[in-house]
Amino acid sequence: MRAGVVLSVEEIGKAQSIQERAESLAPGEVTTYIVAGKPPETMEAPGRVVAGISADLEGADSGQHLEALRSLLAEAPPEILLFLEGSFFESVGARLAGALGWTAVRGAVEVRADGSAVTLTKPAFGGKAELEIRLDGPAVVALAPGEPTGSFPARKPEVVEVGPLTPEWSGRRAVREASGEGLREARVIVSGGRGLGSREAYESLSELAGRLGAAMGASRAAVDEGWASPTRQVGLTGEKVSPDLYLAIGISGASQHLAGIGGAKKIVAVTKDEKAPILEAADVGVVADWHALWPELKKALVKDS
Ligand SMILES: Cc1cc2nc3c(=O)[nH]c(=O)nc-3n(C[C@H](O)[C@H](O)[C@H](O)COP(=O)(O)OP(=O)(O)OC[C@H]3O[C@@H](n4cnc5c(N)ncnc54)[C@H](O)[C@@H]3O)c2cc1C
Repeated sequence: MRAGVVLSVEEIGKAQSIQERAESLAPGEVTTYIVAGKPPETMEAPGRVVAGISADLEGADSGQHLEALRSLLAEAPPEILLFLEGSFFESVGARLAGALGWTAVRGAVEVRADGSAVTLTKPAFGGKAELEIRLDGPAVVALAPGEPTGSFPARKPEVVEVGPLTPEWSGRRAVREASGEGLREARVIVSGGRGLGSREAYESLSELAGRLGAAMGASRAAVDEGWASPTRQVGLTGEKVSPDLYLAIGISGASQHLAGIGGAKKIVAVTKDEKAPILEAADVGVVADWHALWPELKKALVKDS
């Protein structure tokens, strides 16, 4: 069985534990695919390493990453593709499964070969039980990173030019780029995350931010979804900001996001999840569906809306 491990460049350091699980499925037939950005000089891997490159992959949206990956896989598609759990899987892996009509499974912790079939283990009911899922066809699986137990030889990636990749949302990005002041200087930032649920919602929030004279920010998930330009990303790999007010809507507050907002004087967060870490960091936390708050929020913030 051919297996593929798919990584963004940022995930390379965590690759080994999932490569080990892939190797147990398909000794000698594991390919590691890297699509996002500049490939490393060498990478430790159990089998081939294939890196898709394109000038367009700098700051690419998830549609471009998907296009690059599909072009890499076209040559010899694996029967199972393993991703690390996280935003790259959410924005590229899950969409790939949909596009190919393959099964998608999130949150697996173990992958076992069972004759010619593959069985996944996944915690259920808050970790009180375990689900065993037997796959009977090709699948895209998101795995939690585990502790690596060995090492692989260092290999030079085979570089494949994946050609021009058309951005999905270039027109809309141009509009967002033109609105709002720079994030670093902004006194007020309104920031949207995956919880907004759609590009349209992100755009409505951007419009509100523009009317308030606030800058618009985004979590990495909102950027990966293609709703926001990468220049709007706040966090470890985005901008570090220090506004008087940071209003976070639909953002869970992953450590990488919180790393960018330590300088904010006041943080107000709206999330549906009462356990979201952003609530710990916030001066005011609202546990609610933002849709329910939206009309009131608009009225309160913009008198003439
Ligand atoms: C190396 C590395 C670097 C990274 N750098 C960054 C970075 O710079 N910036 C960054 O942001 N992330 C970064 N990340 C990604 C980070 O780990 C998270 O994946 C990301 O921040 C999650 O974005 P999110 O909070 O929008 O999405 P999620 O974590 O999916 O959270 C969505 C939130 O919205 C809530 N929600 C859902 N529906 C609604 C609703 N209707 N109303 C209200 N709330 C709702 C959910 O309850 C949840 O709290 C990085 C990751 C890695 C590995």
